[in-house]
Amino acid sequence: MLHHPCYEITDRADYSISPEGSKWNKHTLTYRIINYPKGMTPSTVNGIIHDAVSIWSNVTSSIFQKVKGQDSDIKFSFWQLDKKLTWEGGSGVQYHGDGWPFDGPGHILAHAFLPNSETPAIIHFDKGEPWSTSYKVFNLLLVTIHELGHSLGLWHFMSQNSIVYPRYVYQNPRTFHLDVDDIQKIQQLWGERCSSEMP
Ligand SMILES: [Zn+2]
Ligand SMILES: [Zn+2]
Repeated sequence: MLHHPCYEITDRADYSISPEGSKWNKHTLTYRIINYPKGMTPSTVNGIIHDAVSIWSNVTSSIFQKVKGQDSDIKFSFWQLDKKLTWEGGSGVQYHGDGWPFDGPGHILAHAFLPNSETPAIIHFDKGEPWSTSYKVFNLLLVTIHELGHSLGLWHFMSQNSIVYPRYVYQNPRTFHLDVDDIQKIQQLWGERCSSEMP
């Protein structure tokens, strides 16, 4: 199978939202996992999402709390291919409720909304992707860290070392660490992690 990794975009930019000054006015954010993809156990997905939130909370003053059965700040969910794939313009056509259709395997993998959008911190994944925990496309941890970056207020950054680079770039998830530029940007929004703070 001919594979074009450069074609895989992590998500699309919503240019109607200005990323400037997009910030939460609190430091503790709750999150909830609404549903799960095929081919991965819920405990695996829970672990991946826990690891992804830790990547960000390790370098900032943000704290994440997982909740069940109640409303949360951040919501993770997986969505099937949208039937209606043509963009009809305006706000009249809704795709799984947000106007950003998924396209099955490849291309658009996920999307997330910035803190100052109408639906802050909603994170949607394309259920049609072959999500993986390894080097195989697409590593769920890497995509989750990327989308969480948006939920925390970071927008795309055109450096391949950045986790908010708009295209999927594989990095070993076991040795993953945030690039210095990403750390600097998130600390500008959230402040540094206080070293005397108890975890
Ligand atoms: Zn993105
Ligand atoms: Zn969506």
